[in-house]
Parts: sequence; C-alpha cells; structure tokens
Amino acid sequence: MSGVRAAMNYSGLALLREALRGHSGWGPAWRDAAPRTEYDALIVGGGGHGLATAYYLAKEHGLTNVAVLERTHIGSGNAGRNTTLIRSNYLLPGNERFFEKSMQLWEGLEQDLNYNAMVSQRGVLNLYSDDGQRDACVRRGNTMRLHGVDAELLDLAQVKAMYPYFDYRNERFPIRGGLLQRRGGTARHDAVVWGFARAADRRGVDIVQNCEVTGFRIEGGEVRGVETTRGPIFARKVGLCCAGSSSRVGELAGLRLPIESHVLQAFVTEAVKPMFDGVVTFSGGTFYISQSDKGGLVFGGILDGYNSYAQRGNLRVVEDVMEAGMAMMPLLGRLRVLRQWGGVMDMTMDGSPIIDLTPIRGLYLNAGWCTTGFKAIPASGWCFAHTMARDEPHFINSAYRLDRFAVGAVLDESGHGAHPNRH
Ligand SMILES: Cc1cc2nc3c(=O)[nH]c(=O)nc-3n(C[C@H](O)[C@H](O)[C@H](O)COP(=O)(O)OP(=O)(O)OC[C@H]3O[C@@H](n4cnc5c(N)ncnc54)[C@H](O)[C@@H]3O)c2cc1C
Repeated sequence: MSGVRAAMNYSGLALLREALRGHSGWGPAWRDAAPRTEYDALIVGGGGHGLATAYYLAKEHGLTNVAVLERTHIGSGNAGRNTTLIRSNYLLPGNERFFEKSMQLWEGLEQDLNYNAMVSQRGVLNLYSDDGQRDACVRRGNTMRLHGVDAELLDLAQVKAMYPYFDYRNERFPIRGGLLQRRGGTARHDAVVWGFARAADRRGVDIVQNCEVTGFRIEGGEVRGVETTRGPIFARKVGLCCAGSSSRVGELAGLRLPIESHVLQAFVTEAVKPMFDGVVTFSGGTFYISQSDKGGLVFGGILDGYNSYAQRGNLRVVEDVMEAGMAMMPLLGRLRVLRQWGGVMDMTMDGSPIIDLTPIRGLYLNAGWCTTGFKAIPASGWCFAHTMARDEPHFINSAYRLDRFAVGAVLDESGHGAHPNRH
C-alpha cells in the first residue's frame, strides 16, 4: 500500500480557488474503501478511538497497510452521540498524565489533521456546594497544578460574575464556588470523526463501512484475522475499539471483559443567542451543560443505572436531569427541549479505561471509556497505536492494564468501588 495519498489540502487559498471555479474541485473527504483480504493491522470499530488509532499507526509508526472495519457508518456510535466536552482535570496520576496528553493533542489537532474540529477552549467549571466538595476541588486542583496542568479555585463572587443567572438562593443545593480549568472546553464531535477519517485515509488507511466483525480467526493462541459480513480478512494485529459493544465483540474472541454496558442520555434545546460561555457541571444534582455553536443548550446527567445495549434511556433519568438543571439555572424552564438520545457506555469496574495487550497474541484492547471517552480520543489513538506497533504499552497508558482488576491495581478516580454504574 502506498504512503501519503495526494488529496486537496484545506486552506484559505484552496477555498478562494474553489470559490472562483464554482466549488467543482472538492473531492470526497475519504474513500469508502472495499475490504481487501489481508492487511498488516485491523482496527475493529470506526468511532473516534478506532479512527484515531489508525491515523497514529500510519503517522507515528509508518503502518499504512491498515483497515478500520465499521459495522455501520463511522461515527454512528458514541462518537456521534456525546456532549463534546474536553478537559484534563483528573486526580490520580495514571489518569492525569493520559488526559493531559490528550488535551495537548487537542490543542494542535486541527493543524495536525488539516481539519476544523471546532476545538473551543472555553473553560470547564465544576461547581461545589459544601465544604466536603470544596476540599475535593482543592485537592484535585493542587494535583493538577503539580502535574503542570492549569486549575483555578473560584469563590462565589467569581462564579457569580461569570454566570449571573444561576440560582444562588437554592438552600438545598447551594452554589459556593467552583474549580475552573480554562483550557477545557468542547470540540465538534462529528468533525473529530471526519477529521481523523480523512487524515488516516490520506496516509493510505482503508475505511471500510458496513462491515461487521462476526468472529475471529485464532490459531495456537495467536490472532490471524477476523470473520466479517463482507468475508474473512487476515491480519497479524487486530485492535478492538468497540466502546459499548466491547464485551460482545470480546466474547467472539473468547474474552470475558471486566466491562458492563449502560445507557447515558443527553438533551439539546432549541437554539438561542449566545448566552452560555463555558461548560459547567453542577454538584447538587448530577448535571452538566454547555451551549453548542448552533445555539442549543446541550446537557446531561448520570447513567440510567441498569445494564442495556439499547441506545435510548428511561423517563426517570429525564426527570432527574431536568430537575437538577432547573435547580441550577431556572431559566432553562423557558426553553423547549428539541431532542433527547442515548448511547451505550462501556463501564469498567473502577471507571478508568483499558488500553492493553490481551492474552491472545496480536489481539489488543481499547475499551472501558465509561462516560468520558470523547476527550480521550487523541491520546487513546496515540497510545493504542504505540501499544499495537511496539507490542507494549507506552508509559502514558501504563496504568490502563487489563489485569489490574486481578492484581488489585485499580484506578478508581471517583472512589465508588466496583460499581460500574456509579462511575
Ligand atoms: C450522551 C453521551 C454523552 C457523552 N458526553 C461525553 C463528553 O461530554 N465528553 C467525553 O469525553 N465523553 C463523552 N461521552 C463518552 C464518549 O462519547 C465515548 O466514551 C466515546 O465516544 C467512545 O469511543 P468511540 O468514539 O470510539 O466509540 P463509538 O463511536 O461507539 O465507536 C465504536 C464503534 O464500534 C462499532 N462496532 C461495534 N461492534 C462492531 C463489530 N462487531 N464490527 C465492527 N464495528 C463494530 C460501532 O458501530 C461503533 O461505531 C458521552 C457519551 C454519551 C452517550
């Protein structure tokens, strides 16, 4: 397979040239490739993590004879269903170094991919409402700063100055201050998928859609390829990036994974003029909110709390989320909710992900993203590519081992213990 493909670079000059000739020169952003029978490496799952892995395999490790196999169309899973928050405000060292790597990659991503992923560092503010929550914010902020990551503790007056329309008289869920990461923010989820797809394709990766993996070819404990709805495809390296379907796909290879699948819902209102500058999480109920570039207020809350593979949620959580939103910001009640949807989350026992080798030689696992895998996409792809190419984890993903549950080296950021639905 050839290296970098000749494709039009997106630039101001290209836009001007195309404007002058009626935009007749733009080609498709990536090829809808037909699968070949053999590759050096296969990625199962065309979400953010799968596409980013393929891109960094080609860019960082020169592995271009690679295919991404996607059951439906790319971005049809959680990559296209999330609320687009990016941040690196973590407490535990194993998490902080990874998510900060991701933040640094986000900061240069658009130039790297030559694609407008609409990365917007508008600030992520976690509100606190009592002394215990304030202590937790102080501890997390100090840890972040020790890792060289930005964090600011805000008092009530500073929060009021930023968001004058919150309800500061709510006695049940008072707002006392917050922990702000100014470098956090949002990115356009579809654009992230398309940007990685285009950049991977330009380096020779085949993106194969409507190609479901239905089984694995394993001989003598080594992977040889996969069975798909478009025939068998052979490869000595196969990486799984199936998010909410991880346990199902793992089972096809005989792996029983420490993952449960749960539904997470999100909501968007009708579009209004710009009114909500940043991203805010509310500690009273579990609620978070931002405003999309189209003007809708995008918000969500906690998991539905029961195991499911359905991409839709239940009404109890709808009520909880609306209640928490109204407690934080009563003006929300004046807006109409336009859409509500759900995605299937791959929840681990400690709330942290897995990027590792598996007991089957040549089969690698990228999973367990819980409710926070969008922000992880760049670092996840970068680390998983390293793990697949070098057959060992990078230091940055060295805490994300599959055997950590067996050896007791768990990474429990929220301290909830082995309750996947609580993380
Ligand atoms: C409502 C909601 C809000 C969220 N908000 C945020 C947020 O604000 N910030 C954040 O960081 N994270 C957020 N997340 C989490 C984040 O979206 C996910 O953790 C992340 O997108 C998962 O990785 P992915 O993009 O690769 O997954 P996906 O896009 O789900 O990709 C997996 C792909 O694998 C494919 N697949 C499955 N089985 C097979 C098979 N057998 N053969 C071939 N292909 C297969 C699927 O079709 C799918 O396209 C949110 C999620 C939801 C649902």
